[in-house]
Amino acid sequence: MKLEKSIELYTKGKKNLVGAVNSPVRAFKSVGGVPIFIDKAKGSKIYDVDGNEYVDMVLSYGPMILGHRNSVVEKTIKKYLKRGYTFGASTKGEIILAKMVCDVFPGMDKVRFVNSGTEAVLSAIRLARAYTGKNKIIKFAGCYHGHSDSLLVAAGSGLATLSIPGSKGVPDEAVKNTLIAEFNNIKSVERHLKKDDVAAIIIEPIAGNMGVIQPSSKFIKELNELAKANDVLLIADEVMTGFRSKFGGAQELLGFQADITCLGKVVGGGFPVGAYGARNEIMEMVAPLGDMYQAGTLSGNPIAMACGIATLKELKKQDPYSDFEKTAAFLEREMKTAAKENGVDLQVNRFGSMINPFFTKTRVVDFKTAQTSDTDKFKTFFWKMMENGVFLPPSQFESWFLATAMTKRDIYKVRSAIQVAMKAVADK
Ligand code: PMP
Repeated sequence: MKLEKSIELYTKGKKNLVGAVNSPVRAFKSVGGVPIFIDKAKGSKIYDVDGNEYVDMVLSYGPMILGHRNSVVEKTIKKYLKRGYTFGASTKGEIILAKMVCDVFPGMDKVRFVNSGTEAVLSAIRLARAYTGKNKIIKFAGCYHGHSDSLLVAAGSGLATLSIPGSKGVPDEAVKNTLIAEFNNIKSVERHLKKDDVAAIIIEPIAGNMGVIQPSSKFIKELNELAKANDVLLIADEVMTGFRSKFGGAQELLGFQADITCLGKVVGGGFPVGAYGARNEIMEMVAPLGDMYQAGTLSGNPIAMACGIATLKELKKQDPYSDFEKTAAFLEREMKTAAKENGVDLQVNRFGSMINPFFTKTRVVDFKTAQTSDTDKFKTFFWKMMENGVFLPPSQFESWFLATAMTKRDIYKVRSAIQVAMKAVADK
């Protein structure tokens, strides 16, 4: 596999960029070797600077659900580029996207757009505290909710990959109100609810940041009941799952309604957009209507809104969710067959268009069981997939994603790569 130009850029990049990247997972630290640098992408394919072509299962960690440079989306962006980039005053696009989002999530009367998932979640936490007048937050081990101080505890993928328990620079005071529960374990939530002062429970309803882990339907049902019975807000972090698991996100798929919903990724179609929304009574706490302050120079950016609107319209039209389900089921079967043929211990977790393998005998249901995966085996598997033309997230603990632009041919290519990669794992 030719990587000379990536090596050259990596070497140059390290001088003025931290680790030559702007987000840690891009450094390929957990799989070793040189991170690839991207030249361009179109549809289901992504091309690195050495001209290697890959089927893209990273999809920028989720936003590119239509694939890259969808023609309808691109036409819209070009049209809006001619009108200016940012104004510091409101535009019609914000109202259109807000209506589209609120129409989809029944628990949402109003929404506020921000610039990232991190911002959406940190604002949602502030809002939950403002609304309830309470301080403590329950989060689940292995769930990632962005890199704000109070949520950087037991926070899944990036940290699990780097084996960092939390982060330096986060003062104890910042996390003293963050209580950790176990995913799929309702008793661990109940225990914390005995304390007063719990404002909210935040969850990735389908976890994607410790690899894919789905909640049992009993767990989600009980979580909702517990939140209601204890006057605690339920925050669904649907930054990854919103418009991806279903058009109405994990809430539609799992049949529940959160008090506050956080969005990101797909809602901006590849531009930096995050959002948080809730019923009127809660959202009216937010400035300028209420006393919870939150603002942003570039929030509701007109190009980002145009891209989000076009992406959601196109997605709704294509309605790919049952096809995604079939494709993911096919990949699961193929991975399991290849593992069996080669005597490799393997679990495959998937939900909707999110899927990933774990190299372990143990059924993966939470962060602890996710960590039983043999990450050396993942490393071998990852590089063989890359050599065979499939771009995967360079971490055991990240989900792979599907896009509507993927063709049967792409999926067969992924299958062939899986067969070679599984054999390489067995031979190692
Ligand atoms: N929440 C979840 C569930 C996420 O998956 C992510 C990003 N992977 C975030 C929040 C943070 O989003 P961003 O990287 O846009 O800040």
